[in-house]
Order: sequence, then structure tokens, then C-alpha cells
Amino acid sequence: MFLDSARSRLAALEREHLLRTPRTLAAPTGPTALIEGRERIVLCSNDYLGLAGHPKLREALAAGAMTWGSSASASPQVSGTLRVHEEAAEAIAAFMKQPAALLFPSGTAANHGAISALVGPGDIVFSDALNHASIIDGCRLSRARVVVYPHADTRALDALLRAHRHEGATALIVTDAVFSMDGDTTDLKALARVASRWDAGLLVDEAHALGVVGPGGRGFAAACGVHPDLVVGTFGKAFGLAGAFAAGPAELIAVIANRARSYVFSTAMLPALAAAIPSSIELVRGADDARARLELASATLRQELSALGFQIPPGRSAIVPMLLGAPERAMQFSTRLFDLDVFVHGIRPPTVPIGTSRLRIVPTAAHTEAHLERVLAAFSALAQADELRPIDDPRMRVSLANRLDEDLECGLGRGSGR
Ligand SMILES: *Cc1c(COP(=O)(O)O)cnc(C)c1O
Repeated sequence: MFLDSARSRLAALEREHLLRTPRTLAAPTGPTALIEGRERIVLCSNDYLGLAGHPKLREALAAGAMTWGSSASASPQVSGTLRVHEEAAEAIAAFMKQPAALLFPSGTAANHGAISALVGPGDIVFSDALNHASIIDGCRLSRARVVVYPHADTRALDALLRAHRHEGATALIVTDAVFSMDGDTTDLKALARVASRWDAGLLVDEAHALGVVGPGGRGFAAACGVHPDLVVGTFGKAFGLAGAFAAGPAELIAVIANRARSYVFSTAMLPALAAAIPSSIELVRGADDARARLELASATLRQELSALGFQIPPGRSAIVPMLLGAPERAMQFSTRLFDLDVFVHGIRPPTVPIGTSRLRIVPTAAHTEAHLERVLAAFSALAQADELRPIDDPRMRVSLANRLDEDLECGLGRGSGR
């Protein structure tokens, strides 16, 4: 009976082309990976700077394990925090130019914990419609009133604050910096103005911007000259490791350390991982060349894929979404590319809104020109296949039209074109 309900859930997912079955990689992932017996170009990782597997990070992890052992053994609030954790937290706070930081085992845990620690029943959160799932869940966990504002629409947000600000004692605005599935941004300067007008806190999740944009890779807020109240970032993407942090004023960090259930009731970050964090920060800080290569690679893909007739929304981040509409088209496309040795996973609801299934194409600084040429040759072959020809879906047009140009103000990247 109980198992039957699981079976019918699986059958429903399969019927709707929404069943997820990850591929197995037989060797570490990099610009290419060994999958099902062949070396394939990987365009679906978040290893933006190509740091995953960097020799310095492998060495730091190995040395950290030899010095600090294989486990933190308990929550930091139970068995004490290790010096190696403190040093990593200080290093990331200094990098972010924030007074204090707290480490979390993952970015998901950081969002769950930080949001639910800072607001609660009687408070109010304003959350962008396209925020990451972990932000949505953090808002739900907080039991604060949640108002979802239209994606990147700061004018609508201002009106919503006017209408609802009085309903919460404390108010928090929370947004992704670079949106994970669309690769676009929001006008952080305007958000900061709205936050101060209505006495609301501003939390920015820099997951896809940290390491990639801003001076020294310090993220989108730094690129905009905005200083959010709290920043959440992950070491699992551009930093080539795993784990995450929240950074901000000492009082906020102390509240999070005391109240965040994903911190208080979870085993502390693997000490070896903490030991590798200062090395990864140094690698990210010095990665200007990699950032320039990445920017060029994503601009090239955007331009060439548009020229082939695919629906590529404007944008300038490393994330290049290719809208395909129905989930089965995204999966078909992904399978055909895989047969041409290009690995890009199809992205379907609920990760993205219904009608906007897509490929999320992400080059890294480690991809060579030869890789990109092979990728474009594969897409060009598919552009000619009749059943895969781009279609015109009104819902995708809405998704395209919703984009604002205001992120240009913050100078994401250095190019001028869109
Ligand atoms: C990936 C991601 C997270 C989660 O980070 P992990 O360290 O992978 O758990 C949080 N927020 C955003 C916007 C993300 O893209």
C-alpha cells in the first residue's frame, strides 16, 4: 500500500517526462568527463572557473584530513568549533569584506538556516518569484508571512512593501544575485534603495555570482557597489569545493549561529574541507584570466546559438539558457546532444516554470576553443533536424519579455552587447 503510492508517483513523473535519473560519471568531472564509455564535453556543471580538482585544492583537502581527521563529530554548538573552521570563516568574511561569517555544510542548509533564524512568525519576507528552491524553503521554514514579488521587478516590490510592510515587525527582502536557471540578474542598487526606504533587511544569495563576477570575483553586490545586510554563498560552485557560508554583521551571524536549525542540529562542516577553503579563496581571487575566458566562452555560445535560430534570452552571466518549451523536447534535445558527446542536462518543472523547459548551458574557464567548436558543431547538426527545430511558444515569449535590462547598470561582465 505505502509502496504503491511511491510507484504511482514514479509512474506519474515518467508519464509527464519529469522523472530524473542522473548519469554515472566514471571519472572526476572537468571540462569533459567519462560517461557511458566515452569522453564527453560537460556543459552542465557549476565549476565556472575550472577549479574543481585543482591540485592545490586536492593537496589542501588531503593535508587537512591528515591534520584534522575525518569528521567534526558533532554540531559546533555541542562539541565546540575547530580552529580550522574559525580560520576558514575568518578568511571568507575578509574576502567578502563583511565583519563575520558562519560556515554551513551546504548552500541549501545556509539558506534554510539564515532565513528562518532572522525572521519568524509576525515578520514578513519579500522573495523574488524566481529565487532558488532553498530560499523558498527557508522562507517557508521561518513561518514569517511570505510575499512573492514578480521576478526582478523592483517597482512592483516597492508597491508590495507599501501595501504590506506594516504587517511584519521585521521585514526581509531576499534575492538571488544571478538567477540559477535564467542566468539573469536583478537591479541590486534599486533593491537596496527599496530596502532602506521601508526599513527592510536585504539578503543576497551569491551562489552563481561569487568567483565569477565583481572585483576579485567578490560577487554581484560588490560589482554593483551594494553592501547587503547578509550574503549567502556556496563553495560548491566557482570555488571548486563544497560547503557554504553566510556573511554579515557579527550580531546577525550570532543570531544565526544560535537559531539556525540547519546549523545547530547538524554535524559541522568536514574539517578537511574547512582547511581547503583559504586556498580556494586565493585561487578565486587570482582568477581574472579565467573569468575573462569564461565571459568570452559564454558570450560566444549565446551569440552562435542565437544565430542558429535557438531561443536564447539576453543576458551576460556564464549561464546560457536555451528555451525549448515542453519537458520532452528538453530531454530529447539533451539525449541527441549526448549522442554527439555533449553532456547538457534538460531542466524541467518544478525547477523552472511550466512551458519553459530548457537546456541550461554552462561553459567553464577550462573549456578550450576546440571544445566550444565541437559543441557548436553538435548544436548546428541538431538545428537542422526537423523534429528539433526551434518552436514558438507564447509562454516562452512571456519568459523572454519579462527580462529587465537594468542589470546593465551594475556592469555584470565587461562587454557592452546584449
Ligand atoms: C546551488 C545553489 C544553492 C545551494 O548551494 P549548495 O552548496 O549546492 O547546497 C543555493 N542557492 C542558489 C541560488 C544556488 O544556485
